[in-house]
Amino acid sequence: MASDYCAPSSILIVGSGVFGLSTAFSLSKDPKFKDTSITLVDRQPFPAPDGSSIDTSRIIRPDYACSPYTALVSRAQALWRTTFAAAHYHENGLCITASGPSQTYVSSSLSNVRELGTCKIEELHNAQDIERVTGVENASGAMGYVNWSSGWADAEGAMRWLRREVEALTRVTFVTGTVDQLLFDHDSSTVSGALLKDKSTLTADLTILAAGAWTPSLLDLRGIAKATGQVLAYMPVSAAEEARLRDRLTLLNLSTGMFLIPPSQGLLKVARHGHGYVNPTTIRHPESPSSLPPITVSLPLTHIDSPGQSVPAEGLKACREFLSHIHPSLCVPSRPFTKSKICWYTDTQHGDFLIDYHPKWKGLFVATGGAGHAFKFLPVIGDAIVQCVVGRMPDEFKGRWEWPAERVEESMWEGDGSRGGPVGMVLSEEIAKGGAKL
Ligand SMILES: Cc1cc2nc3c(=O)[nH]c(=O)nc-3n(C[C@H](O)[C@H](O)[C@H](O)COP(=O)(O)OP(=O)(O)OC[C@H]3O[C@@H](n4cnc5c(N)ncnc54)[C@H](O)[C@@H]3O)c2cc1C
Repeated sequence: MASDYCAPSSILIVGSGVFGLSTAFSLSKDPKFKDTSITLVDRQPFPAPDGSSIDTSRIIRPDYACSPYTALVSRAQALWRTTFAAAHYHENGLCITASGPSQTYVSSSLSNVRELGTCKIEELHNAQDIERVTGVENASGAMGYVNWSSGWADAEGAMRWLRREVEALTRVTFVTGTVDQLLFDHDSSTVSGALLKDKSTLTADLTILAAGAWTPSLLDLRGIAKATGQVLAYMPVSAAEEARLRDRLTLLNLSTGMFLIPPSQGLLKVARHGHGYVNPTTIRHPESPSSLPPITVSLPLTHIDSPGQSVPAEGLKACREFLSHIHPSLCVPSRPFTKSKICWYTDTQHGDFLIDYHPKWKGLFVATGGAGHAFKFLPVIGDAIVQCVVGRMPDEFKGRWEWPAERVEESMWEGDGSRGGPVGMVLSEEIAKGGAKL
């Protein structure tokens, strides 16, 4: 398709997160699309308060067991350090640890970042090494390494920066509205845009669906992608504590999934990169509401959809136990988390992104499957998506980002080996056992 690629006259992007906004940026700059009208619709005014891309912080690490992602992050980091939202990027280093089976991921990741040849690495052989290098009172994990060339970004700050850049190019029409369903024409197997909840339509020659964890509400992605909820908790820290901890390493224990990012804006964030909670929801069939039976898929339930939403006690306990283990003097029993939430990953079978044309619906391209690790690619993922749109998927991601050959029962998904903590939790069941609204 690439050599004779003919740009569509109109493109509709659904979703203004990492995948959608970066695509809008790349399309706006690409001369091939100079005559294409570009519309970006999101159900929330920007920045979406419950979008996965909006938060105080996201880890930026080339530390992957899969080397193509290591190489892609390395290219992203070159931009994070210089021209892309650089004021929002902090290169404090990352300490990645494990005990038990997750050590395999750590070893592969270590070998990949070594291979890059540009990262400053220190191997950690035991708990004493971990305590010495991180400054925690008690180590979490039995072994690991520090990559001093990893960092973290103020996610909301970087997304706001990108939005201003896109606006400055004046190529994109921004619409706030909820897509109720895509406009499917069953006779021609074509998608021609979207019908919004207010009954208005946005038509386009090409629709790029980048609705994050909500994507399975607009397309039948059973066995391909699903939403999983992850717990986050925040503890306020004083200015003196923030000054003391600000330059510390980010800590990520791949066996438990627990991680801690240095404090910013007076808040210390603890979270779990885990298998997460599913939220099975029965909805009308997104592609054929009148002729096919309803389907049940895991979809996000956020503090915006449901303002009284509790966070499961199980998740809050995991955050508290992690913090009180590594920093007992900071996390004294009388000192509570003051804010917590569930944030939604778009998980796929192997943790790979899904960036491809739909195999059946002409005029429909899907860019999703962040699987809890896409933020760091913000400076480069839009260009990669546009490459795929014009038919030039990078060779190293063929078979990873392509539409999967088959749907695989979700309980069989292996992930990418980076997740820790409990498996098989259902959000409503965990909340029923106890929860708190913070
Ligand atoms: C708790 C947590 C921690 C993470 N930590 C890291 C990390 O440390 N490092 C890292 O690299 N990555 C991390 N990630 C992953 C990364 O943040 C995500 O992969 C990425 O932000 C996903 O972007 P997205 O565009 O797919 O989704 P989103 O940002 O959620 O964007 C989707 C957008 O679609 C909109 N939308 C949904 N439905 C509709 C509709 N019907 N109509 C119109 N608009 C709609 C939503 O409002 C939303 O704005 C983390 C994610 C979470 C949740």
